[in-house]
Amino acid sequence: MVELVTIPAEQPAGLAVVEIREHGVTVGDADYRVCELCHLGVIEHVRVDPPFRRRGLATRAITKLLTDWPNYSWSTSPINDHRALCFWKSLDWPDPGTLGTPYACIHMRQSDDRIS
Ligand SMILES: [Zn+2]
Repeated sequence: MVELVTIPAEQPAGLAVVEIREHGVTVGDADYRVCELCHLGVIEHVRVDPPFRRRGLATRAITKLLTDWPNYSWSTSPINDHRALCFWKSLDWPDPGTLGTPYACIHMRQSDDRIS
């Protein structure tokens, strides 16, 4: 059984995580931050352990974020490799122009962690 568990940020616009768990074991995660003032969301990193890939788990994690924060403008941190780009392009991403170009607001920049 797959579970998606949100671990909220410790401060506004800070780094948060959606953990992908199978039978209670974390097999992947998505790092993101959202700003409730600016209605912006940035996905910084998505990872799924190799044995668990090609099952749509990353897609489910992303879909959960887009659903949990409706009407937010989403972007991603830079996408460096071709496979990652193919993954992102396979998604029903709200605005393809924001793939690989993070739109981080001042609140995100001021929060604890560096934008990667
Ligand atoms: Zn903001």
